This record gives sequence, C-alpha cells and structure tokens, in this order.
Amino acid sequence: MTFAELGLSPEILRAIDEQGYSEPTPIQAKAIPLVLTGRDLMAAAQTGTGKTAAFMLPILERLKKFANPSASPAMHPVRALILSPTRELADQIGVNAKAYTRYLPLRATTVFGGINMDPQTQELRRGVEILIATPGRLLDHIGMKTVSLNKVDVLVLDEADRMLDMGFIQDIRKIMSMLPKQRQTLLFSATFATEIKRLAEDFMIDPQLVEVARQNSTNEHVEQLVYQVDSYRKRHLLSHLIREREMSQVIVFCKTKLSADQLARELKRDGHAAEAIHGDKAQGARLETLSAFKSGEIKVLVATDVAARGLDISELPYVVNFELPNSPEDYVHRIGRTGRAGASGIAISLMSQDETRQHESIEKLIKKTLRPETVSGFWPSWMERPAGEAPPPAAERAPRSRERTPRERRETPAPQLPVALTPVSSEGRKVLLPLPSGKTKREVPALFLPPRYKLEGNRQS
Ligand code: AMP
Repeated sequence: MTFAELGLSPEILRAIDEQGYSEPTPIQAKAIPLVLTGRDLMAAAQTGTGKTAAFMLPILERLKKFANPSASPAMHPVRALILSPTRELADQIGVNAKAYTRYLPLRATTVFGGINMDPQTQELRRGVEILIATPGRLLDHIGMKTVSLNKVDVLVLDEADRMLDMGFIQDIRKIMSMLPKQRQTLLFSATFATEIKRLAEDFMIDPQLVEVARQNSTNEHVEQLVYQVDSYRKRHLLSHLIREREMSQVIVFCKTKLSADQLARELKRDGHAAEAIHGDKAQGARLETLSAFKSGEIKVLVATDVAARGLDISELPYVVNFELPNSPEDYVHRIGRTGRAGASGIAISLMSQDETRQHESIEKLIKKTLRPETVSGFWPSWMERPAGEAPPPAAERAPRSRERTPRERRETPAPQLPVALTPVSSEGRKVLLPLPSGKTKREVPALFLPPRYKLEGNRQS
C-alpha cells in the first residue's frame, strides 16, 4: 500500500516523501480513507504508531480546496482545531503540520501556555486554517477574542485519555460547545475509558472505531528488562548502565519533579550530559532542553510522565524507568517512547523491594511476564548474595541518618529514644511504676515523659 493509493494529492505526497515516509503505517492505512469520507472517528492507537499523520494528512486533503495565497485574514479562518494535552505534544504536532503543508498555501500555528501570548495573538490575527492548541491557552485566546472558531470543520482530540487524566474535561466540553455542530470529530486515545465513551456519545455522530494494536499492549519491538536493585543504589546502577551500554540517548522516567531534578544533578556529578524536564521548568527552557537532547548535546533526559507526553524523538534507543509508575498505563506510555515507527528499542526498569505491587500491576495490564533480573555488582540487599558477588562499595551502602548540627540539637527535641525510667515519689524516693503488664519497668519515648519521672542514665541532660 502506498500513500498515493490512499487518495492523497501530489503536494502532500511530495511533503511526506521528504519526511522519508515510504509507506503508510497501519493506523494511517486504516484512518486516512475514513477521515477522507468526512466521518467521525475514534481511534485507539499507541504512541509512535504515526497517528499524527493519520489525522493530519487527510485533514490537509480535505482543506486543500480552501488553500489560498490571499493576505486577508478573513480568507484564512480556523478550519481544523487540534487539541493536545501537553505543550510538547502540541509543539510536535505543529512541527509535523508545518512539514506536511510545505507545498500547500494552508497556514498552521500552535498555541500553548507558559510563553508570551503576543506572538501567538499576532499569528492568529493574520489568519490560520490549522490551529493546534492546549485547552487552557485556547480558552485564554477565545476570552481575548483573538480567535474565532465558528468556521471549524474538523476537530481532533489527541491523546484524549491524557486530557481527561489532566483534568481538562470541563475545558474541552466548553470548547466543543463553541464549535459548529456540523463538523467532523476525530478522537485519538490510548484507552477508551467510560468518560471518553461518554464524551464521544455527547459530541460525536456515529463514530467509526479504528484500532491498530491491542489496548494497553506494549510494542513488540521493545525489549523489556527489569533489574532488581536497592533504591539507594539505583542511581549508581543507572550510571553504570549508561556507561556499559554506551547509551547515547536515553529518557529516564521519575515519578516526581523533585526526584527528576535530584537525579539529573547526580548524573551530572557522575559525568553524564543529563538534564531534567518537567512542568515546573519554564516553557522556553523545556524546548531548549528538548532540542539539545534531539541534537545529541544532552544524552540523558530525566523526565516526569506529564512532561514526556508528546516528546517525539525518532528511534530513541533506550528508556529507563528509574521508579516504576503507580499507574500501569503510564508504563505503556513511557516505553512507547522507544521502538517507534518500527525501530527497535530497550526499556529498562529499576525495581526496588517496595515496588513489587507496581511490577505486578504492569504485568497484569500488558499480559506479559517481566522476570526481574539482577546485575552483577548491584546485588539487592534483600536477597542472599551468592559466592563471588561482591558487597557494595562503602560509598554505596544504605544511607545512615545524618548527625544533627548543634543548632538543630538546640532547636528541636532530642530524638525519641526508648529509655528505661524509674518513677520518683514526691519526696524523691524511688517507687515502682504500676504497669498493667505487671512488669516493673517499661520503655517510654523521652518526649512523653511526665516531669515527675527522672531518666536513668542521664540521657537527656
Ligand atoms: P506519532 O505516532 O504521530 O507520534 O509518530 C511517530 C513517529 O513516526 C514520528 O517521528 C513520525 O514522523 C514518524 N512517522 C509517521 N508516519 C510514518 C511513516 N509512514 N513512515 C515512517 N515514519 C513515520
């Protein structure tokens, strides 16, 4: 099957040829003819399957009749609106749209939050047929009347499941209520949860269902490895793996912004070109980090799940789960960053003793056994060490609690050591404390000592 057989025009074929696409991916082969008929569509497609082109190419074909070189903004109303959950995904769709419209006088622009609205406003005022937006920033522009949506012919909800996860449902419903009733709606989602189905029932007309891979399945081109390791040695193991496997490009997933920042700092200290990317970083910094990663200047990108959505890095060879995600669906999304569009990839998960629950729910979701392995030199402390397996070097042993500074000692109560105590009568004579258990002494935390008890051993003085 070729793109030409799908009914796309020469201008579009030329642009995708320049992108190096030789044949349609399965989702493209299924979705493009359907979208061309003007029907509503619900598509379950994994990340990396080529879903952006699956909706963008037929949209361009349908909008081709409106393409015109006029300078008048009135000649370029918004005809296709693409909503994306994250800034990065919106940016990526925008980059693709620009590439695909290279030989058509159709304008595409992207608006998302976290950056100055003025340049976006100017572009919108000039007129644009294809608008890619995150819901919040789009509503800001609608509020400022810099954009009108009354000529929208096609609406795309990309990664709809993630938009709902991120709490955009009200924004989405609000935006949808502003669009013409007569339009085509295309919904892309990794899963079809109840709320997605409800959204489809409310806003779509008899949608055609397209599915290219089993829901929540993982890409067969991705080799999945799970290494058991103590949590305090994960960073050392990661550093070791980056070196040993000569990873030139790897995304490392952390659960929180804080742990992403800390890990990036530590990896830098270990001599790796690493940088963190997450929602607390300014948009400009995020895009800069991303382009440095794409160009190879940064080799290790430490990311949170939300920040990583929409990162399109072709042929990413490695993904590492530094911490297993609480939601098993996130595991599928994470490892979907590698092995994209048919390339092979390796996903490594570092699993500590307290992450067995997450490991089990991942196996259940993907219906696959992920046998935990060990790495020589990083034997987990909770497993008996075989002969010949060296103990961890002193610097990598379990962290001991830190000594308190003199100031901390002055300002905070002493640690709650269990102490033996002897009750003292009002005359200062020692008496036995009546205990329910019948014993004569009991361990009581120093903090809870009533003043009439004197501590034995003078520990508190
Ligand atoms: P997506 O799932 O839309 O994020 O696309 C994943 C990657 O596949 C992107 O880098 C696209 O440029 C690439 N891609 C999309 N369609 C094709 C195709 N037909 N042949 C080769 N690569 C493609």
